[in-house]
Amino acid sequence: MELKQLGERTWYIPGHVNIGYYEENGQGYLIDSGLDDSQGRKILKLLNEERKVPLRAIVNTHSNADHIGANALIQKRTDCEVWTTRIEGILTERTSLEPLMLWSAWPFKGIRGKFIEAKPSKVTFIDQPMAIGDPRFTDEYPIKDTDLMAVPLPGHYLDMIGVKTPDGVFFVADALFDPTVLAKYRFCVMLDVTSAHKTLDMIAETDARWFVPCHAPATRDIRELVRQNKEGLNWVTEAVDGALANSERPLTREEILSRIGVAHEMEMDAPHLLLNLSCVAAHLTHLSELDRAEPLVQDCLLVWKRKNV
Ligand SMILES: [Zn+2]
Repeated sequence: MELKQLGERTWYIPGHVNIGYYEENGQGYLIDSGLDDSQGRKILKLLNEERKVPLRAIVNTHSNADHIGANALIQKRTDCEVWTTRIEGILTERTSLEPLMLWSAWPFKGIRGKFIEAKPSKVTFIDQPMAIGDPRFTDEYPIKDTDLMAVPLPGHYLDMIGVKTPDGVFFVADALFDPTVLAKYRFCVMLDVTSAHKTLDMIAETDARWFVPCHAPATRDIRELVRQNKEGLNWVTEAVDGALANSERPLTREEILSRIGVAHEMEMDAPHLLLNLSCVAAHLTHLSELDRAEPLVQDCLLVWKRKNV
């Protein structure tokens, strides 16, 4: 594990999840924390050796377990605060909601591993100053009393934010994935495809000295990665549409996932399958927003059929 400097006051720790680090007025701030206690211990050791500055807060971009899983240990050892948006914060304090969202009921044991359900931590909310419905709702806004700015990144999760530092680094969270991740999994965690496209377009038009996605190397030019991610999203939309097009009857979302998964020899366990199912659902909503698919209830099943084609 190492700290790589990107700006005067900004570093990142490359890894399976890239962790950001920033200093202001003699205090340190982490951007996300990583998966588990072991990662938390390594981060603290590194910061103690290299920076020796008190840690004031972890700023979480969103509440997925690989981003908040080390919060609990770091908070216990340093007494730092955990800052995140209100909705993501509720899931960070009540991490059993994460598998509950996947299963839509109290989760069974097989989907409660650390990759889905992190240890809970105590959150201080960062409030979006604009009201819902205000046209400025998606504008960036300051993160408490720091020079950091929160940038809403809708699409991947409930209220994910990116973080902009005053020295030109833009942490873009899970708005983008490395092409090897896209090629390997094809489905990524995704709640709102239409918004994810808008977020990607916004990132492509943003000026920054460095862009740091959580699951791709830091880069000075993000545009090619944006293109590949939009292509990855379109691949799934068309695969879902193709499954409906090649079927003589409307299909459930489970059947759509099964047809795509079997055709592309994908392997998945229960948590992975439920994540993929949620992704298929997001693309079905997207197709319905494009007026290309519609749901209906048949024989006590919610099924989908193509429309206007
Ligand atoms: Zn992630």
